[in-house]
Amino acid sequence: MKDTSDVIVIGGGPSGSFTAWKLAKLGVEVTVFEEHNTIGYPSHCAGHLSILSLRNLGLYPLPGKIVENTFSQANFYAPSGFTFSVTLTTPVTCSVNRAAFDKYLADKAEQAGAHYNLNSRVQSLLIENDTIKGVTVKQDGKTQTVTAKIVVDAEGISSRLLRQAGLAGLNGACLVHAVETEIENVKNVNLNAVEVFTGKAYAPGFYAWLMPRPNGTAKLGLATNTGNPQEYLNRLMQKHPVASKQLSNSKITHMTFHPITLGGPIAKAYTDGFLAVGDVASQVKPTTGGGVVLGLTCAGIAADVAADAIRRNDVSASFLQKYQKRCTDTLSFDFCVMLWLRRFLDSLSDEKLDDVLRFLARMGVNEALGSVDAIDFQGQLFLKLVTKPAIFAALAYFLKLSLSANP
Ligand SMILES: Cc1cc2nc3c(=O)[nH]c(=O)nc-3n(C[C@H](O)[C@H](O)[C@H](O)COP(=O)(O)OP(=O)(O)OC[C@H]3O[C@@H](n4cnc5c(N)ncnc54)[C@H](O)[C@@H]3O)c2cc1C
Repeated sequence: MKDTSDVIVIGGGPSGSFTAWKLAKLGVEVTVFEEHNTIGYPSHCAGHLSILSLRNLGLYPLPGKIVENTFSQANFYAPSGFTFSVTLTTPVTCSVNRAAFDKYLADKAEQAGAHYNLNSRVQSLLIENDTIKGVTVKQDGKTQTVTAKIVVDAEGISSRLLRQAGLAGLNGACLVHAVETEIENVKNVNLNAVEVFTGKAYAPGFYAWLMPRPNGTAKLGLATNTGNPQEYLNRLMQKHPVASKQLSNSKITHMTFHPITLGGPIAKAYTDGFLAVGDVASQVKPTTGGGVVLGLTCAGIAADVAADAIRRNDVSASFLQKYQKRCTDTLSFDFCVMLWLRRFLDSLSDEKLDDVLRFLARMGVNEALGSVDAIDFQGQLFLKLVTKPAIFAALAYFLKLSLSANP
C-alpha cells in the first residue's frame, strides 16, 4: 500500500466508487479503502433505480445481468386493501443486483486508474491543525497511516468518521429501520409492477415493497420507525389481504437489516481537506429512502470540486464549500418538496391515507402521472406536473389535510 495519494476515498459503495471513477478520469491520483473483502457484499439494498436518472449519469444501459427487471407500473395498497395503480407507457425504473452494480462502478474506477484496497478498514482520520491530512487504515492486521490532500468520506450511514471530522452526524430521529429479503416462489404478481404496501399494521412510518423477477423470485422488504422490522414482515406475509396471497407459499432465502436516513442532507458536508458524499451526508430521498441516484449526483460534484481544489492547491474549507453550494443549488428544492411530503405522510392516520389514495384515484391522478419519466428529483417533477388539473387538485387536497393536521 502506498503511503500517500492525492485523494483518499473511504468506502467502495456506489458513492465512493463513483467519486473515485470521476476523479481518476480527471487525472487525479485516488485510493479507495473498503473494509470488506468483496465489493458489493454484504448488500442491504433493494436496488430500485430510475432508468432516466441512470441514463443521465451515463450509466444506462448497464451491461450483463446487473438489471434484474424493469417496471412500468406501481400498485399502492391502502391500509384497507384499496389499490391505487399508476401505469406508465414504458418502463421507467429497474431493479439492479446491487452487488453487481457496485462491482461495475468499482471496476470502472479501477480501469480509469483508481487504486482499490479491500479488507482495509479506515480506523480514524489523521487531523493536523484542524485539517484532515489522511487516514489510519487497518489491513491484514497491520495498521498504517496514509496521507492525502483530500479525504472523501463515503462510509455510508454509520457516519463515525464524519463525526471525527467535527461535522454533525445524521439526524437519528429521522432514521427508519429496514429489513430486506430475497424470496422465492412468489405468486399472482404482475412482473411489470412494483408493489407498495402501506399501513401502520405493516410498516409504521414507511412502507413495504415487493419487486418481482421473471423467475418467480423477488425482493421483499419494509422499513419502520418503531418496533422490530422482522415482526412486521411476518405480519405482512401472513395477514396482509394482498401480500399474504402473493407470498403464501414463498420462502425467504436471505435477510439483512439496515437503517435508512430520511431527514434530508446534513447541514455541512465539508471541512478543511474533507468532503462527505452519499448516505453519510444523508443524500437520500426522504419520501422513498432511495439514496443511490442522489448519492451519485453529489459524488460527481464532489469529484469535480476535489479535482479543482487539487489543481489550485487549495483544499481549505472555504474552497471546498463549493461542493456544498453546488449540491444545494442542484437539490435543495427537491429536498424541500420531499421533506414536506414525508412530514405530510407521517401525519396521516391509516384512515386518512386510505382517503388520500381514493381521492387520487377519483381525480385521475394515475392518468396525469402516465407520462412521468424521472422519479428522483421530486421537486422538479412536481413543477412539471402541477399544471395538470388532477395534480393541482391533489396538491390542494394535501394542503387542506396538512393544515387541518397542523392548524
Ligand atoms: C433495505 C434498504 C433498501 C434500499 N433500497 C434502495 C433502493 O431501492 N434504491 C435506492 O436508490 N436506494 C435504496 N436504499 C439506499 C441505498 O442502499 C443507499 O442510499 C446507498 O447504498 C448509499 O450508497 P453509499 O455508497 O453512500 O453507502 P454504502 O452503500 O453504505 O457504502 C458504504 C461503503 O463504505 C464501506 N465502509 C464503511 N466504513 C468504512 C471504513 N471505516 N473503512 C472502509 N470502508 C468502510 C462499507 O463497507 C460500504 O461498502 C436502500 C437502503 C436499505 C437499507
